[in-house]
Amino acid sequence: MNYSLPIPILGFAAYSGTGKTTLLEALLPKLTQAGLRIGMLKHAHHNFDVDKEGKDSYRLRKAGASQMLISSRNRFALMTETPESESEFDYLLSRFDTDKLDVILVEGCKNIAFPKIELHRDEVGKPWLYPNDDNIIAIAADSDVTDTSLPTMSINDLDAIAQFVIDYVKPKAIESRSKAASSCCDILSPAFLSVAQGQEKILSLVDTVSGVDSCSIESGYGRVLAENIVSPVNVPQYTNSAMDGYAIRGDDLGREQYQVVAEVLAGHAYNQPLEKGQAVKIMTGAPTPLHGDTVVMREQATQTGDLVTFNGASVKQGQNVRQAGEDLAIGSDVFAQGQRLSSAEMGMIASLGFGACPVYRKLKVAVFSTGDEVQAPGSEQKANSIYDSNRFTIIGMLEKLGCEILDFGILEDNEALMIKALEDASTQADIVITSGGVSVGDADYIKLALDKLGQIDFWRINMRPGRPLAFGQINNKPFFGLPGNPVAVMVSFINFVEPALRKMQGEQNWQPLKVNAIATDNLRSRQGRTEFSRGVYELDATGQLTVRTTGKQGSGILRSMSEANCLIEISPAVDTVKSGESVTIIPLQGRI
Ligand code: AMP
Ligand code: MG
Repeated sequence: MNYSLPIPILGFAAYSGTGKTTLLEALLPKLTQAGLRIGMLKHAHHNFDVDKEGKDSYRLRKAGASQMLISSRNRFALMTETPESESEFDYLLSRFDTDKLDVILVEGCKNIAFPKIELHRDEVGKPWLYPNDDNIIAIAADSDVTDTSLPTMSINDLDAIAQFVIDYVKPKAIESRSKAASSCCDILSPAFLSVAQGQEKILSLVDTVSGVDSCSIESGYGRVLAENIVSPVNVPQYTNSAMDGYAIRGDDLGREQYQVVAEVLAGHAYNQPLEKGQAVKIMTGAPTPLHGDTVVMREQATQTGDLVTFNGASVKQGQNVRQAGEDLAIGSDVFAQGQRLSSAEMGMIASLGFGACPVYRKLKVAVFSTGDEVQAPGSEQKANSIYDSNRFTIIGMLEKLGCEILDFGILEDNEALMIKALEDASTQADIVITSGGVSVGDADYIKLALDKLGQIDFWRINMRPGRPLAFGQINNKPFFGLPGNPVAVMVSFINFVEPALRKMQGEQNWQPLKVNAIATDNLRSRQGRTEFSRGVYELDATGQLTVRTTGKQGSGILRSMSEANCLIEISPAVDTVKSGESVTIIPLQGRI
């Protein structure tokens, strides 16, 4: 093999009858679960065909297409006629898109030189390959092999074979990826990450703050509970009527008429046991009398003097009565630690009689803008400058999350001052956020300063907008260096900063709401990156959730965020979403 493949290659060599395909079929799920993206090359019999007779692609090939590429939403296949001779192995390898793979596994091709695992079953009755083939690097067999220094495994131990493949592939894949990254122009060799990888890394590196406040219920909106809330009372406190009507005994149904012995309003009670033949006129919420376990609605009753009849209405024992503790029994769990409080939670905690509750202390967040061209609003515009908007979108989103904001203004373009300001901020705040100056090739001072502060990685996230992102620690406090473009700032904040802040605030396993809607525009994206378009969703006349874009999607056009009520998330696997197709949306209500 002469072609220099940028990813590892590993073959499975065996005589036919050994069960190569069956083994690989069982092995692949274990490898993909370990995160390997797999390409397969299989040598087949000369008259194989993936096409089906009669299909359009088959007909077009037979009509003379020497290459036939057929494509759909889920896959494409390129069929190339090779009537003279089978293609060279190297040429076939060069057909793979190795950017999207971690390894190429080869089934067959016994006679070509590349690393292989020999598969062997005694019952097949064929000779061993390894004594005469230097390309065999390991053996998986159903009998013991003793005359070799090669690693050996049982052919029936799929976990061992999978582990061997993973151990073989992973170091090589990392090596070839870092080679690819370092061959790029960037001196800081930033890592490429998917959105999910970035989120995972960040979440694994931030922790909930320590420190608990007691917070009065009325000022609890948006705070996060630091302890479980257990009900100290029964809700409702006493058994009561769910209706305006008449309480009677459940063992005394079917009488022609009952004697009304009292009238009970909410906040009052009839304190004697109810006798057979008696009824108590009762209002919604008033306690039912002893034995008066059944209530008939007033609408079904006719009272004349102190006698009431129910006009033949069918009555079931226990109807229209709310039992004490029916909503919440004493001692039962109401809210778990990590619950963020909003109106309903405030009401519920109050309904249990608490005047205050334990919450995590407020998170202090330091915010900076950077860039020589960036000017504070509220002053006359200077030549060659733009007004700072990022600090204000960030402050707005921090407000939404109930953070205490330390506004550090615009950082002067001076390395020493920047280092000092960032260090100062990190001693005062729990987390530091800047925007601007982190894109690759950017000569901004902030990047040099951050580099000196250490422990900060410059990432390139496979997303748009918001590809550059710096993340790390300053004085053990998390630091986010967001991009400069105003839309990119918001999209990065929503995807990376907000989940981190929520975890630091004590909220557990928060997940953003995502739903599907039908696109009413064609949405363009690019394979390999996540595209976050700004969208407007609504219910159409038939009740279907639909979404359209806000129009121009430039990452400097902040108006697109203002007009949007959602982000449209197009996954890296998808190229374009056509009008009429389903797409994921992330509603933004309550978040920006
Ligand atoms: P940068 O990543 O620093 O190259 O910034 C990218 C773009 O965002 C440039 O056009 C900047 O002028 C712009 N930008 C940077 N910071 C801000 C800010 N605070 N407010 C508005 N625009 C900004
Ligand atoms: Mg800049």
